[in-house]
Amino acid sequence: MKIENGNFDYAADESRSGVCPICGHVGLEYGGSETRDESIDTDWKCPACGSSGEEIDKTVFDGYIVQNVPDHTPKKRIYEDAERNLYFVRSGIGKTYKGFCRWKKPKNGQHRESGIRSLPYTEDRDLAQYQLDAYAV
Ligand SMILES: [Zn+2]
Repeated sequence: MKIENGNFDYAADESRSGVCPICGHVGLEYGGSETRDESIDTDWKCPACGSSGEEIDKTVFDGYIVQNVPDHTPKKRIYEDAERNLYFVRSGIGKTYKGFCRWKKPKNGQHRESGIRSLPYTEDRDLAQYQLDAYAV
């Protein structure tokens, strides 16, 4: 517990969500909440002892749910840059696809073709093409 400006701060290992940190009553009443950069802060009030404050719940990035990808006609199947390197979708291990680059002049020790690092493997060839198109813009 930390006392600051007359407020009592309880760390997560000293308290539990839904349990009054002052009297231990189970069943706090929650009010409005505010989303901050790394937490959701929710007003609470204890019906037993009358204490109140904010509960801090940290938000942790846990992935994406993509619910919509715009309709899309590939602009090009193969792209070429100023150095005449070629960019295209190729299958990888198993039934996966990804944007690859075929280097015009591979450096020593560099494969002639290498996967584009920032692009993920995907099981959907059209999605891989979509990702390559977005990359190539
Ligand atoms: Zn209480």
